Amino acid sequence: MSRENPLTHLIFDLDDTLYAPNLGVVQRVNARIDLFIREHLGLVGADVDTLRERYRLEHGTTLHGLMLHHRIEPDVYLADVHAIELDDVLAPDPRLNAILARLPYENIVFTNGSAAHAERVLDRLAIRERFAGVFSLDRVGYVPKPRPEAFQTVLDALGIEAEHCMFIDDHPDNLDTARALGMRTVLVRPTPRDDQAHDHPTIASVHQVADLLAP
Ligand SMILES: [Mg+2]
Repeated sequence: MSRENPLTHLIFDLDDTLYAPNLGVVQRVNARIDLFIREHLGLVGADVDTLRERYRLEHGTTLHGLMLHHRIEPDVYLADVHAIELDDVLAPDPRLNAILARLPYENIVFTNGSAAHAERVLDRLAIRERFAGVFSLDRVGYVPKPRPEAFQTVLDALGIEAEHCMFIDDHPDNLDTARALGMRTVLVRPTPRDDQAHDHPTIASVHQVADLLAP
């Protein structure tokens, strides 16, 4: 750990980072996004997939394509796609709570989901008290990760420099931006995947985050 740039903040992604990715939360959100497109645009089947892929490529997220081309209100979309059951797939995580309690850093959540969704997930995991702040898509001007402006909004709001942050996420793209800005980075990924080459330090579970911070 560099003496000139002491670590002060751990910035965590939410979904598939603070809980294991095989639990089905993101899959449920994805199913709601498909349903939203069916209901609002009248598309079905493969046309939904094609549209989502095109908007992701052209605009970064499905939402941004919907905002631009269909005048969808982002808050309406976010409330709709996050209206999922959580209690049967997520459970309180006292182990993570204890790990975060022992670490001498300020913990922050930074998610492309909504603030309401983030609060629900943190409450369900019973770790809300460990986080000093939640930055969600609706709190960073609807600019999503991995765009650098989104990260800069978070840093400015916290009044800190990137060099004092460690960013933990399950997407290498997001980590690439964080590293370019000067943050330390950690990928959370239970099993290696060959489809996304990266060279970020990797842990299989958020429970191992303290291992990377040992003196
Ligand atoms: Mg994630």
